[in-house]
Amino acid sequence: MTGGRGAARILDGMSDSPEARVPSPLAELSDERFASGGVRLWLKRDDLIHPELPGNKWRKLKHNLADARAGGHRTLLTFGGAYSNHIRATAAAGALYGFATIGVVRGDELADRPLNPSLAFAAARGMRLVFVDRGTYRRRAEPAFATELAAAHGDFFLLPEGGSNAAAVRGCAELPAEIDVDHHVVAVACGTGGTLAGIAAGLAPGRTALGVAVLKGGFLSGEVTALQRAAYGRATANWRVEDDFHHGGYARTTPELRTFVEDFRARHGVALDETYVGKLLYALTALAERGAFAPGTGIVAVKTG
Ligand SMILES: *Cc1c(COP(=O)(O)O)cnc(C)c1O
Repeated sequence: MTGGRGAARILDGMSDSPEARVPSPLAELSDERFASGGVRLWLKRDDLIHPELPGNKWRKLKHNLADARAGGHRTLLTFGGAYSNHIRATAAAGALYGFATIGVVRGDELADRPLNPSLAFAAARGMRLVFVDRGTYRRRAEPAFATELAAAHGDFFLLPEGGSNAAAVRGCAELPAEIDVDHHVVAVACGTGGTLAGIAAGLAPGRTALGVAVLKGGFLSGEVTALQRAAYGRATANWRVEDDFHHGGYARTTPELRTFVEDFRARHGVALDETYVGKLLYALTALAERGAFAPGTGIVAVKTG
């Protein structure tokens, strides 16, 4: 167990391990689309936290890895689509902190194809990829499925899809205390809603969290409420979700979004992904131009990746 002990020592220092940059940097943007309405905008650069475990994935894994270690587990198992950032991050975390990893990936047809860059990265970090058909993947939250997976693959610590559980929410709740500028709103792109649930829970009184859904469906508020209840026994009333900026759904884009992201890069020298953070900044800009934020509002947008 000496190997396990060594890994545990690294893990105890996950926050202050040399390669993790926490608190993440905060930078104000000068953008007239906000300034003309008296609104200030900062980017919280969570994408710079760790080269292999960027953004909210580092925050979401932090307490989970400690829980896995405390429970004596040596393997992490999780679920995701073929392009899941969470699958990538889990594979990287396993390699860095001494866990074997198993990724249950949606789409059995993928088994016969060359791995895409996300899955190739995961495999290169030692993740065992298990491809399942869509019907099987739908069982990902069923305890009976976890039992079957344990029978096939041995003991593991289970991380749900997207890594969103109570421990992930507690990790994301540590973000607001890092913000040392005068702000009123913290805004974040939402997939499963775990990051929003945590940020809202960690806010000081009088501040609000705004989530921009990148998936179509309008189910996110229920998820955020359930995650806060799981983490704290109750939900907070200081957050809301914008459902109108998904641009067609998960990983979909539009010419408007693409143009916005290119223009943002030209203005600010910051590259935004079109899956998450591009949709977040597009939404904030549209809302600012509509006058949705009162003059004097300070907004911190979290660059999660
Ligand atoms: C995973 C991810 C999100 C979504 O986080 P949730 O907690 O699932 O809402 C947002 N941004 C980036 C860059 C991500 O990789």
